[in-house]
Amino acid sequence: MKFCYECGTKLVPKELEGEGIVPFCESCGVYRFPIFSTAVSMIVLNRDKTKILLIQQYGTGNNVLVAGYVNKGENAESAVLREISEELGLEAEETGYCKSEYFPKTNTLMLNYRCIVNSEHLDKINRKEIDKAEWFPLERAREAIMPDSLAKYFLCNFLDNLL
Ligand SMILES: [Zn+2]
Repeated sequence: MKFCYECGTKLVPKELEGEGIVPFCESCGVYRFPIFSTAVSMIVLNRDKTKILLIQQYGTGNNVLVAGYVNKGENAESAVLREISEELGLEAEETGYCKSEYFPKTNTLMLNYRCIVNSEHLDKINRKEIDKAEWFPLERAREAIMPDSLAKYFLCNFLDNLL
């Protein structure tokens, strides 16, 4: 980032205690840290924690985790509940934070959560956004999820920590 995103002034490098050199806008008088998006992805479990829900989107045929961007002003936990409701038509009864990873392709910090949903019924899923949703036994999910994806990384991390 070379220019201030608020006023367009050229940023200058300035020392910030504990942070090193950070681009600074002399006009606004504030440091301008790099901008990135924040998203949540969810390992969706059934009530007895024997199955994981994977979805396919945008005609790719790849099994991935349910995910979505965090809105400005919204906290990550609310985004998790909102996405589960909007995408799956389900209610998350229990959620917990797992792990995060930066995804350079979309300049996004992904926060991965696990959540237990109130039902295994998939009749209310958002058909506009989701091509297919399917429950997999835990170890089958590991095989079924898209290879070399961030979703797989999160899923394996979750499954490995269950042991
Ligand atoms: Zn500025």
